[in-house]
This record gives sequence, structure tokens and C-alpha cells, in this order.
Amino acid sequence: MSYVDEVLERVIAQNPAQPEFHQAVKEVLESLRVVIEADEEKYRKEALLERLTTPDRQILFRVAWVDDKGQTQVNNAFRVQFNDAIGPYKGGLRFHPSVNLGIIKFLGFEQIFKNSLTGLPIGGGKGGSDFDPKGKSDREVMAFCQAFMTELYKYIGKDVDVPAGDIGVGGREIGYLYGQYKRITGLYEGVLTGKGLSYGGSLVRTQATGYGLVYLTEELLKCHGTDLQDKVVAVSGAGNVATYAIEKAEQLGAKVVTCSDSNGWIYDPDGIDVALLKEIKEVRRARLTEYKAAKPNAEYHEGKGVWSVKVDVALPCATQNELTLDDAKALVANGVFAVCEGANMPTTLEATQYLQDNGVLFVPGKASNAGGVATSALEMSQNSERLSWTAEEVDQKLKGIMVNIYHNIDDASKKYGMEGNYVAGANIAGFLKVVNAMEAQGIV
Ligand code: GLU
Repeated sequence: MSYVDEVLERVIAQNPAQPEFHQAVKEVLESLRVVIEADEEKYRKEALLERLTTPDRQILFRVAWVDDKGQTQVNNAFRVQFNDAIGPYKGGLRFHPSVNLGIIKFLGFEQIFKNSLTGLPIGGGKGGSDFDPKGKSDREVMAFCQAFMTELYKYIGKDVDVPAGDIGVGGREIGYLYGQYKRITGLYEGVLTGKGLSYGGSLVRTQATGYGLVYLTEELLKCHGTDLQDKVVAVSGAGNVATYAIEKAEQLGAKVVTCSDSNGWIYDPDGIDVALLKEIKEVRRARLTEYKAAKPNAEYHEGKGVWSVKVDVALPCATQNELTLDDAKALVANGVFAVCEGANMPTTLEATQYLQDNGVLFVPGKASNAGGVATSALEMSQNSERLSWTAEEVDQKLKGIMVNIYHNIDDASKKYGMEGNYVAGANIAGFLKVVNAMEAQGIV
């Protein structure tokens, strides 16, 4: 049996009931076949793939906190420190009821390659909890964050592991987490990113994932003889990534006609009103039904449906496995030109294959959503030098990083004989840097 197949079997056998983790590993290892098989004995002897697919450390802990009724609540929490070959562990925290160890491992594994692609010195990690911030009071969110950090602080540090936000963890949560870290350790250090601007945050970090996604998409389109001007775009999600992807795409002349939340989706033929979306989601923390109430020309539909709309470009920015084979078929039937992922692994393996087989330009999240973590690394740099860069400076650097990522993955796809397969290009380019560092550092 080939080494890649051996390791795939091992990952599935040793990590039962973690389908998302299996999916992420399968996608990466399948792409790496050409690289591994060129030097299979060496990699097998070093157990390189076993080391790459086994986290350095998995921390599981209990978080007990008291809700507004005086009831004690208990949540499961995780921090998976996956690989620190090229820098301190780096990756977000997700607070969502669906969070379990398998989800955090899939996210941490993806983060290794994404962080490598940024070109910045950050390793891969991820964490979170099954705590649901939705519907909780500010005091409850603070109580949870303080209890969570009271355990997590032992394992993180500015040169060790630097968490940030993800689904359910935004500026409010990062603030409470940072305050508790400082209270316990007495250290004012860049241990978290995504901080507020008044206490060490970076300008443009809030917008970075969405803006970065659109910068990469624009470069992809330019290299295929077009751009976003007058393109019709579908976005899913209504969180941080979706909001700023819509904002930047509209600034570049596109018309974004959809967005969605966990209950339903909006079709706005006039183009999504970002100011209204921000007001509903960031200020009122309300449902998209309020969008329809404010803009009668728009349609609100219950359930899923964003991918049924005829568009030129699709940007899935909600969550994993939200774009299925049926969705891919609908997009292709409607003549979609490009799909670039804003969320982590939003497209299923079958849907990805279908899009690629039908000539759709497809860029995986580990390349196209890397702008968030890249700007987190810029926040770390600013914290280390105790300076704040201007918005223009950060934005220029972000744009340069995204353009570079596109060319790196494009070059890798060409070099390994799979031109235009950006999944393979991203996995191979991300892998080569990490492996080089792992080999240089010996068996550790
Ligand atoms: N959660 C984001 C991601 O998936 C950002 C992580 C970070 O900034 O560390 O990449």
C-alpha cells in the first residue's frame, strides 16, 4: 500500500467519529501524493506524515460558569496545538454548540497550511468551546470568557500560542479573554489577536478576512482576463467574513445579491446594503428578517438557498460543508465562473471535485481566507515593536500577501503538473515550507 494510503487509514482508525478531520486530512494528503511518492521511502522513514497529522498537543478542559439565573453551566473546551515548525501556534477560538474535538482538529490541521501560505512565521493551532454566545447577556459572555481563560492561560503566551477569534468570538469576547489573561498573569503582551484598537489591536484586522478574500479573488479574475467590476456575486453568511467580503466586493464594482444566517437567507436585487447588515448583525445582534423589514424590495427565504441564484462569483463565508454537490450543480448550471472560499472548508469534497471538473475556478479557504490570520501576524509584529501601523500600511501589506498567495498556489499547481488546481497548489505550497522546517529541526 502507498505511504499516503497507509497514513490515511491510520488517521481514520485512530481518530474515530471525527469526519471533518478525516475530510481535511484526505483532501491534503490526496494533493500531496505527487510530492510524497517522488521520495516515499525517505518520508516513510521519518514518519513525516504521521507527525504532520498528529497534533503536538490536545488540551481538553471543563469550563464552569454561572448564568444570569444563578444556575451553574458546564461547557467543554479545547485547544489543539497542531504544529509549531514555522512559528508559535496560531489560530482562532470558535464558540458554537457544534464544536467538538474533531471540528477543532480539522480547523487546526487546515491552519498549519494556511499559516504557512501567508509567508509569515506562524504555526497551526485552534481552540474553542461548545458554549453558544447567541442570546447570552454581556455579563454571561464575560463570565464564560473569564472561566475559559482561567484554564487556557497556562498553555498560551506571545511566543508560545496566540489565539484569536473565529465563529462566535469577536471583539467583545477577545476583550474579556484578554482582560482575564492580564489579570491572572500580570503580563501586558500580544497573547491574543483581534484586540480592540485601544489596547493593542491592529487597524484593518476586523475587515481582513473578508477584504483579503476579495483581494485574492480580484487577482484570480485579473489573471483570467476579467475583474469584479459589474460581476454578480453570491455571499453566504452574515458574520465578520461575509460582511467585509460584501463591503470590499461592492467597493470594487461588484453587485453582491445574497447573504445568509443560520435561519434563512436574503436575496437583494439592488445589492446588499452593508451599512444595514452591520447595524443588524453587529449592533442589534438580530436576525436577517430585520433586513427584509427595512428593505421591502429584498426577498427573505427560510432555510438554505444562496447557491440557487444565478451569479458569476460565489464566496461561501458561513461554515464548513455548507456548499454541497447539489449546490455545486446549481452554480454550474447557472454559469458560475469562480468560487473562492471565505469560510474554512465550506465546500464538500464532492462539490469541490464537481466544480473543478466543470472548469470553475476554485480557491480553497486555506489560501483565500488567509488574510485574517495574516493580519493577526501583523498585529503580533506591531505588539512586539510596541507601535501601531496606519490603516493604509496594514491594508497594503494585506493586499500584497493575498496577491502573493495566489501566485504561489498557481505556480505550485503548474510546477507539479496540475495547472489551475488551486487545491493541490495550496496544499503543496503550504506543505513544502512546513516540511522543510520540520526536517531541519530533526525528530521532535
Ligand atoms: N479564525 C481565523 C482563521 O480561521 C483567524 C485566526 C487568527 O487570526 O489567528 O484563520
